[in-house]
Amino acid sequence: MNNYQLLLDVTKAKDAALIAVSKTKPIEDIKVVYLQGQRIFAENKVQEMCEKYEHLPKDIQWHLIGHLQTNKVKYIIPFVHTIQSVDSLKLLQEIQKEAKKIFRRINILLQFHIATEETKFGLSLPEAQDILEGLQANPELYDCINICGVMGMASFTDDAAQVRKEFASLKNMFIILKNTYFPFTSSFKEISMGMSGDYQIALEEGSTMIRVGSLLFGSRV
Ligand SMILES: *Cc1c(COP(=O)(O)O)cnc(C)c1O
Repeated sequence: MNNYQLLLDVTKAKDAALIAVSKTKPIEDIKVVYLQGQRIFAENKVQEMCEKYEHLPKDIQWHLIGHLQTNKVKYIIPFVHTIQSVDSLKLLQEIQKEAKKIFRRINILLQFHIATEETKFGLSLPEAQDILEGLQANPELYDCINICGVMGMASFTDDAAQVRKEFASLKNMFIILKNTYFPFTSSFKEISMGMSGDYQIALEEGSTMIRVGSLLFGSRV
């Protein structure tokens, strides 16, 4: 059984989605996975995602998972399916502005900082609550934004207990936000966590979306 089939089986068993992280990989590699049936791919760089979008079938759902600068939002708005890496109000406002121009509604996830490393982007719970208070006060200003849930990356460590703790904290923040701001919004349901090295723990801790790159495509050099 190849890794793709294995990942399909484990995500299906948990009713989770498999996001194929194709960053740095060539079009030909993506086509192989596409032909096995995969339709959700993720990239972390805007320009790379735009180029791949152009050269690949249009029924692919593209997710952005890398840090997004506001001046690059406009390039992906015409086709992006979900922006998983939203970590500021400024970015949210830019997405709204560009989406409104072309009458699109964009799915987004709020990215949280759950790892111990300082370099990783992401919000704290109070920062996210601040943003959502603002949205709740003026929902008409955000009518092109569909907030679908949360995303996070665990620490890069062999300490499985630490990773589990971080995933559990993301799930907990999801529940708090769900109860406070989205109790009747059925589309607020995603917890995007888990990568090649930790997807099993993530699924045990309630992940609804695992983002897997190297296990599918081979290691990146
Ligand atoms: C690269 C990346 C992944 C996938 O990492 P692998 O370890 O190759 O599975 C997942 N999420 C984000 C945000 C990434 O940047």
